[in-house]
Amino acid sequence: MTARSIGPLGAQTTDLLRELIQNAAVNDGTPDSGHEHRQVATLQRFFEGSGLEGVTVEPHPGRTSLIVRIPGTDPDAPSLALVGHTDVVPVEPAGWQRDPFAAEVVDDVLWGRGAIDMLNLTAAYAVVTRALAAGAFERSAFRPRGDLIFAAVADEEHGSRFGVDWLVTHRPDLIDADYVLTESGGASAGPLPSIGVMVGEKGAAPRTLRITGSPGHGSAPWSARNAATIAAEAVVRLSRHRTPTVITPQWRDYARALDLDDAVRDAVTDPRRFFDGIGGVGGLDGFAHASTHTTIAPTVVRAGEKGNVIPGEATVQLDIRILPGVTPEDVDGYLRDALGDLIEHIDVVGDWFGASTVSPTDTPLFGALEAAVRRAYPRAELLPMLGIGGTDGRFFRRRGIPAYGFGVLSERWDYGTFRRLFHGHDERIDLASLDLTAEALDHVVRRFHDPAGAARRPARRDSRA
Ligand SMILES: [Zn+2]
Repeated sequence: MTARSIGPLGAQTTDLLRELIQNAAVNDGTPDSGHEHRQVATLQRFFEGSGLEGVTVEPHPGRTSLIVRIPGTDPDAPSLALVGHTDVVPVEPAGWQRDPFAAEVVDDVLWGRGAIDMLNLTAAYAVVTRALAAGAFERSAFRPRGDLIFAAVADEEHGSRFGVDWLVTHRPDLIDADYVLTESGGASAGPLPSIGVMVGEKGAAPRTLRITGSPGHGSAPWSARNAATIAAEAVVRLSRHRTPTVITPQWRDYARALDLDDAVRDAVTDPRRFFDGIGGVGGLDGFAHASTHTTIAPTVVRAGEKGNVIPGEATVQLDIRILPGVTPEDVDGYLRDALGDLIEHIDVVGDWFGASTVSPTDTPLFGALEAAVRRAYPRAELLPMLGIGGTDGRFFRRRGIPAYGFGVLSERWDYGTFRRLFHGHDERIDLASLDLTAEALDHVVRRFHDPAGAARRPARRDSRA
């Protein structure tokens, strides 16, 4: 990589990020994992001497979140919350070239679990907030016009039950804002460059198939109604089934920005020919497919108790991610279509449904993001993207609050690499990207909260897609 000098915001972000990685706040989905209280202790130490105190909440022992607020000077000015989660997903150490929690810096690259998801951003939010309040690095102390909120939240990696979901339900006074920035964004698509900003995300409708056969002796399988066999057939049918192809505006723009053959681009933006082109998009094929389809992934399959008993029951968990506009009835219909005549042996269990959420882009915050990106990449365009996974942004969008996933990464990142390292082995980030992101966030906050600005608090718009 080309050497790039790292400014004070980037250097401080690097130091704080190293400590957050070393705290190993691993969330394995059990209530007693996560240990985000370690992250809060680190952040509280970090804010010492800045005049900022913060409030902590702990819905379950150890699952602590910290919220710091710089009050604005004008109660009518819009508020902005920087919402960073502090937990990380587990690692498989054997797959890593380096210790995932040592936070080593090698050749200007910082390695470790959470380096891009999303301790990098959480660290940068804290650094920018502190620097603004304290007037650090020979920059003037800054009183924002509207409130600036920094939230370091627990449990994002397991549905945010002890994090943002809890906060918006029990303590909205702490975390409420007119606009929100969170993960993930900043990777460039194609040569333009186009810098991705997550303006929305798919929804989810997890279901479980409960399959009933009839138990019998394993020595006589002929004509048995083996629930494991039916489950296997169901899994195969679901994997082969094609839900409707939908070309969203975000996918159309994304495909336009990518460096693709014209024929491939035409195909993957045409619902009738999508599958003719998907082979030509390279390592982004999974993203391309998920961006244009409601996806149904069988994840946990269970059947059988004993080696010589034909199982009479089986279950198949389905991770179902839905596009904007998809209804619960649509999900039922996809499952019926895919399973066909097997449905007579199957109960579909579960009715949880979280719609896809998308924020508008004609907002003053989006304008500030664009300006910040152009300082790093003068010719860059912002590319509004639809995330295929879930982030804490959805809890805000559902309440009509625009939430964007934002960052600025260096030229070395393309979206394929960026995605692969999310929850993957060898997660890492270059120091240049940390610096670009911290500088961009500092610019966004100063511009958005400009004392001479005129933006007023918006009326809430329903952003449920
Ligand atoms: Zn994340």
